[in-house]
Amino acid sequence: MPELPEVEVTCMGLTPHLIGQKLSHFWSSGKPLRQPVPVNALLHVSNSSILAVKRRAKYILIEFQSGKLLIFHLGMTGNLGIFAPNTPRRKHDHLEWQLESGSLLRFHDPRRFGLVAVLNGNNKQEVELFFATSGMEPLSSDFTADYLQHAAKRRSIAVKPFLMTSQIVVGIGNIYASESLFHAGIRPDKSVQLLQEREWQRLVEAVQKVLRHAIACGGSTISDFRNASQKSGYFQISFHVYGKAGIPCSECGATIKKLTLSGRSSFFCPHCQH
Ligand SMILES: [Zn+2]
Repeated sequence: MPELPEVEVTCMGLTPHLIGQKLSHFWSSGKPLRQPVPVNALLHVSNSSILAVKRRAKYILIEFQSGKLLIFHLGMTGNLGIFAPNTPRRKHDHLEWQLESGSLLRFHDPRRFGLVAVLNGNNKQEVELFFATSGMEPLSSDFTADYLQHAAKRRSIAVKPFLMTSQIVVGIGNIYASESLFHAGIRPDKSVQLLQEREWQRLVEAVQKVLRHAIACGGSTISDFRNASQKSGYFQISFHVYGKAGIPCSECGATIKKLTLSGRSSFFCPHCQH
């Protein structure tokens, strides 16, 4: 499943191809995604220049001069990429526009859990409502130890599922939660009530370090975005604990353990994490 770093890198990759361009020749496979495709709204994003490509949570936002926002979520298997003119469509291509450059913007999604929507960006309420359940951006300056400590008040939950709650902080999936807790030296099953201020501080720093590292790894493939965009899956990041049960910890040599928390596999070093 594409995570926050993959979505961020997709935005970075799309930006130079899309800025200043207009979309035309809209095509749809006619198949629904997670929700029905709003074909009429998608036809009407044509003929206005693209000003910016941004990420919010795990959504890609394409901003038009008209104020319209074209929004994509990649779901489980979605991919939004740029293709050379006249590249034949493949199975599972669902949406396509032509750019003025002749290149094609295509949304491909075998499992069709992705989402496409058009919002009126001039209508603040409409935009706020759309993102009402999306919590804090982990790479923003407002993502602080204070914020997390406050959000954890009166909750009895382990820190790992807490970190994966998108109403609190967006975009931290199972892998990045496991890796962040390793870097912070905190056991995934520790109750949020037991975390000290300095541990929250370490957690904020670890989350940002892990996400920035993943984005940098993905960013290194951007010069060849056209090809990169046709692949999917995780970047080739070397994980410290995720998927490493039974293997010696890279820091201390103790055996990495696995436990299940809120139904998700969690990996940790019993020596490095407390
Ligand atoms: Zn260790």
